[in-house]
Amino acid sequence: MKSYDYRSDTITKPTDKMRKAMYEAQVGDDVYGEDPTVKELEELSCKISGKEAAMFVPSGTMGNQIAVKVHTSPADEILLEENCHIHWYEGGGIGAISGVVSKLIKSKNGLMDIDQIERSIRADDIHFPHTSLICMENTNNKCGGTVIDLNSMKEIYSLAKKNGIKVHLDGARIFNAAAYLGVSPKMLMMESDSVMFCLSKGLCAPVGSILAGDEDFIKRARKTRKMLGGGMRQAGILAAAGIIALEEMTDRLAEDHENARMLAQGLDRINGLKVEMDTVQTNIVMCDVTRDDLDSYRLREELGKSGVYSTVITDKRLRFVLHYHISKSDVTETIDIVKKATFNL
Ligand SMILES: *Cc1c(COP(=O)(O)O)cnc(C)c1O
Repeated sequence: MKSYDYRSDTITKPTDKMRKAMYEAQVGDDVYGEDPTVKELEELSCKISGKEAAMFVPSGTMGNQIAVKVHTSPADEILLEENCHIHWYEGGGIGAISGVVSKLIKSKNGLMDIDQIERSIRADDIHFPHTSLICMENTNNKCGGTVIDLNSMKEIYSLAKKNGIKVHLDGARIFNAAAYLGVSPKMLMMESDSVMFCLSKGLCAPVGSILAGDEDFIKRARKTRKMLGGGMRQAGILAAAGIIALEEMTDRLAEDHENARMLAQGLDRINGLKVEMDTVQTNIVMCDVTRDDLDSYRLREELGKSGVYSTVITDKRLRFVLHYHISKSDVTETIDIVKKATFNL
C-alpha cells in the first residue's frame, strides 16, 4: 500500500546526491578540528547566517541547549515564547543543564507581545533573578509553522540590546520563514546574537544542525558541546550531506508551502474538519476536528489504515507536515482519503 507520511519533515531521507557525497567525503577527527568537510560546512554556514563562527551539532535540541548554557549563568531568568520548542519539547533541559528559570511570554502565532517582554525584564533588585536571554522561534513549530516578520524580529532584538540582554534564535525552520517572507535567511539571522538551524528537517540531511554566533560564543559553545557528549569524530560523513542541504535544498521549500496550502484548503472543505487558514504560512497544517462524535486519535488511526500518517497535537487537533517526499498529486490523493475516512467514521 502506498503511504503518505505527514508526521514530520524530520522523516525525510537523504537524497541520492547526499548519499554519494557522504560516501566520497574527506574526513578527519573533528574533536581535533581536523575534519575538512565539517570545516567546509561551518564556513558555508557563516556565509549563509552572516555570523563570525559556526559549529556543527548532532541535533537542534543540543544546539539550543548549548546556546542557553553559554548565554546564561545559573539562576538567571530567560524569556521564552509560550509555545516554544525549548520549553515544550527539550525534556526540561534548560533546568538541568543551565539551571535557569524561565518566564513564558504570551504570543500571537509565535510572535511575542513586545510590551510583556519589556515588563518582564527584571530590575536590578536584590530579590530578583537576572534576565539574561530572550529566545525567539521562527518559524514557530507548535503554532503551525507561523512566521515572525523581519520588523518584529528587529524590534525585539533592539529592545534586548538596549537592556544588555542576549537573543537566541531557534531557527530550526528559518529557511521556511525566509522563503515565506521573500527575504534572505541572513537578514533574519542577523537579528539575534546566536542562531540554531536544522539540516535534518525540510532540507533532507540525515542528521545535524548548526549553531552560529560570534567567535567568542562559538569558542565557549565548542567546550559545552564536548561536555554534553556532542563532540563527534569523523563527522564529515554527515557534514557532506549538510552542505548539499544548504546549497541545493532551500530553494524548493516554497513547493512544500504551496502543497501545504492546497492540503489545508482541501481539509477545511471536509465536513467536521477545520483549518485556520491564516496560520498556514509554511509547511505545517494544523487541522481541527470540529465534529462532536470524533476525536483526533480515532481519525489518525482511521487515516493510518489508508496509509496517511499524521501527528496528534491535542485530542481535537492533528498536524500534517509537508516535505520533499510529498508531491502535489500525493496531496490530491490524501484529500480524497481523508474525505472517505471521515465519511465512514
Ligand atoms: C525540531 C526542532 C528543534 C530540535 O531539533 P532536533 O534536531 O529534533 O533536536 C528545535 N526547535 C524547533 C522549533 C524544532 O522544530
